[in-house]
Amino acid sequence: MYYNWKENTNTEELKVVCNLIKNGEIVIFPTETVYGIGANAFDEKAVGKIFMAKGRPSNNPLIVHIADKQKIYEIAKDITEVEQKLIDHFMPGPFTLILKKTDKIPNIVSAGLDTVGIRMPDNVIARGIITFSGVPIAAPSANVSGKPSGTMVEDIRRELEGKVSAIVDGGESQIGLESTVVKVIDEIPCILRPGAITPEQIEEVIGIVDFGNGIFAPVEEDEKVESPGVKYKHYAPNKPAQLVYSEDEKDLIFGINRMIKELKGDVVVLGFDEHKEQIVVSEHRFICLGSKDNLKEIAQNIYSALRKSDELLGELVIIEGVKRDGLGIAIMNRLLRSCGYNYWEF
Ligand code: AMP
Ligand code: MG
Repeated sequence: MYYNWKENTNTEELKVVCNLIKNGEIVIFPTETVYGIGANAFDEKAVGKIFMAKGRPSNNPLIVHIADKQKIYEIAKDITEVEQKLIDHFMPGPFTLILKKTDKIPNIVSAGLDTVGIRMPDNVIARGIITFSGVPIAAPSANVSGKPSGTMVEDIRRELEGKVSAIVDGGESQIGLESTVVKVIDEIPCILRPGAITPEQIEEVIGIVDFGNGIFAPVEEDEKVESPGVKYKHYAPNKPAQLVYSEDEKDLIFGINRMIKELKGDVVVLGFDEHKEQIVVSEHRFICLGSKDNLKEIAQNIYSALRKSDELLGELVIIEGVKRDGLGIAIMNRLLRSCGYNYWEF
């Protein structure tokens, strides 16, 4: 069933959706980061349906979503002072903390790890569904594994309809990128996946942060990683893609135009609004990412733009990158991964 709650949450329909969760079904719902496919985190069979619907490898763990901070102490244990500080500062919000799990969380959720990722969304619809379902909700991003995450229902409806019991439409995701994932190791917060909560913001609270591997460079097959998700292809369009960047705008545009010429114009460009007139490609092959100075807008548009590129013809998708600073770190992480780390700096 499709439910349109873009304007208002319908309370009768909310009951129906929460009953589906209670009865072991899976549901697509909005959050402020991206759309999720959720199931009762305590119900192994229901969680199994998520892995089936997405085609997600069983060794890639799910994040558990809560609406009440007290729930953390039911599903996680041995919480340290640093971890508590992070909870106090960044929840609710686009922030996931990896904590030692209790036996209440089944192994299928944590992919056999002794830890669990916990997030408290800051979105009324998500919080309503979690609260009235009465259980924590395990939910990965709503997309077939490997594809860009869903930031609006129109983008994911075709690929997931029929695989889930309900789709709740809350309009376009406010942030558009998945949460910042943090694990505290030896009292230092380690960013396993960058997101809208920036390293600078965490540094302000704790003093120092570290980074996991796989953020700006690919990890080797046999390399040990803290976050299993970094091993998998993700956010990728169907065509080969090339990420390009330069500190100098003129060099960047010159480089892109040279690439377009070499490929006789048979490309799709994901570029900034300001460059539309300067990049020499036919108008319908240029997809706007937003203004070059508005990282929030770019973050919000990335996944939808990547999906639009699938609908166009072209040998290559050329994507303009941003400076790796603040929110730009998360943007570049997703773009690098969507390009399979094909990156040129002019
Ligand atoms: P998604 O659900 O698609 O947003 O991806 C969730 C991300 O969080 C994946 O990259 C996982 O590897 C990571 N994650 C979830 N649970 C854990 C955990 N217990 N330890 C480390 N990383 C985790
Ligand atoms: Mg995902």
